[in-house]
Amino acid sequence: MLEKREFYIGGEWVAPAVPNDLAVIDPSTEDPCAVISLGSAADTDRAVASARSAFPSWAATRREERIALAKRILEVYESLSDEMAEAISLEMGAPIDLSKTQQVPSGTWHINNFIRAMEEFEFERRLGSHAPNDRILYEPVGVCGLITPWNWPMNQVTLKVIPALLTGCTMVLKPSEIAPLSSLLFAQIMHEAGTPAGVFNLVNGDGAGVGTHLSGHTDVQMISFTGSTRAGVAISKNAADTLKRVHLELGGKGANIVFADADEKAVKRGALHCFNNTGQSCNAPTRMLVQRQIYDQAVETAAATADMVHSASPREPGRHMGPVVSQVQFDKIQALIQKGIDEGARLVAGGTGRPEGLNRGYYVRPTVFADVSNSMTIAREEIFGPVLSIIPFETEEEAIGIANDTPYGLTNYVQSQDGAKCNRVARQLRSGMVEMNGAPRSAGSPFGGMKASGNGREGGVWGLEDFCEVKAVSGWHEAP
Ligand code: NAD
Repeated sequence: MLEKREFYIGGEWVAPAVPNDLAVIDPSTEDPCAVISLGSAADTDRAVASARSAFPSWAATRREERIALAKRILEVYESLSDEMAEAISLEMGAPIDLSKTQQVPSGTWHINNFIRAMEEFEFERRLGSHAPNDRILYEPVGVCGLITPWNWPMNQVTLKVIPALLTGCTMVLKPSEIAPLSSLLFAQIMHEAGTPAGVFNLVNGDGAGVGTHLSGHTDVQMISFTGSTRAGVAISKNAADTLKRVHLELGGKGANIVFADADEKAVKRGALHCFNNTGQSCNAPTRMLVQRQIYDQAVETAAATADMVHSASPREPGRHMGPVVSQVQFDKIQALIQKGIDEGARLVAGGTGRPEGLNRGYYVRPTVFADVSNSMTIAREEIFGPVLSIIPFETEEEAIGIANDTPYGLTNYVQSQDGAKCNRVARQLRSGMVEMNGAPRSAGSPFGGMKASGNGREGGVWGLEDFCEVKAVSGWHEAP
């Protein structure tokens, strides 16, 4: 069993102020695989104080120095990619090949994209030709509390740590207590890359403890949070007394609108996307809206796709599906599948219980429901498991109405070979992102949502701007 009780504060590994062990559970065996400590208010205060004292000197560094550090972080991250893939696979159950080909590379991708965005980022901007003596200055917000979930651990950690670092902020990272091992390795990477003491700190803990202490802390100027909408609301309320900035990346219930003229791979692609990472992605296309002319065929294809997906241990190589992360998630998904059946949706693949032959571990059957109405619980709640709901529609207007009829607004998807229709629909969807015909968003594109999916934009230039204060200066002199 791995012993990982220490925190990274002020450039060194330190013991918790008060011992408070928590076992990390391997979701494929249900057995403990590591032990960490849950931090206390004293540990949080110590980390915040360290970030606070490092802030003035780090904020004064030059662009080149910060970029050089990010490049060293990238180098060390890449050199430890096998260890990172294993840590992620162990803590949250991603099959090792998925961990190597998607989980770890998402971090590499973000670090590279931020370096590119930083090279051209304008920290001083002209207001316009009408105002030659006005300057708009982009300055670091200050000490940031970064709170991350377990589902794409390095994706979320790099989306927060790297822009905070590049804009001149200092930080305290509190990773998910369910999947803390990858972040502990990331702290080692930050150390080996030569991050100045205090710029980056890590304290493990839960939401009620370290998370709440960070969001209410008077010396923390910003919280950047990714996780559930429930926690996003709690953080916003707790942060209100200190009027800190709160950046939220929350849940989703993405619609995938499949028109009758969609390409022939659209349904299979959509179903596989929904099941990727065992359905544990905030931007998963979990509601498939299918136009009536191709509905029966689409239901058949989606069910056949689910039946093809095979579940197995994360240690085994291959493109199979792993378990979901925890007993809590397993129970929640089982209850929601049962609710789908009880509310009258037609189960066409999967169902409750574990896949055949797997009696231990939080394995869930890839499940497809047809004839779902948008008012059913499975169409409204984020399930965070491999469960697809298929909803029929007749017209473009009806599809847009169903897609937008949700509290969430993260990513929606459109499948049609009619380009003008795609663009028209994309404009009307109330979500931070729209992906069409399987085209992924490109490097530097902002990630984030509307409505209950949050308010921040991560990645590229927008990701850097989120960690900046904007200062307007008039009477500016041309001299440096
Ligand atoms: P969660 O909200 O339970 O936990 C996320 C993090 O917040 C953890 O580190 C947790 O300890 C902490 N936390 C929980 N309650 C807190 C509180 N009151 N104050 C401060 N911190 C608190 O979410 P989870 O179960 O780890 O992750 C799954 C959720 O994350 C899903 O809803 C998913 O959609 C969402 N998510 C969103 C995005 C996005 O970018 N929009 C990306 C990934 C995951």
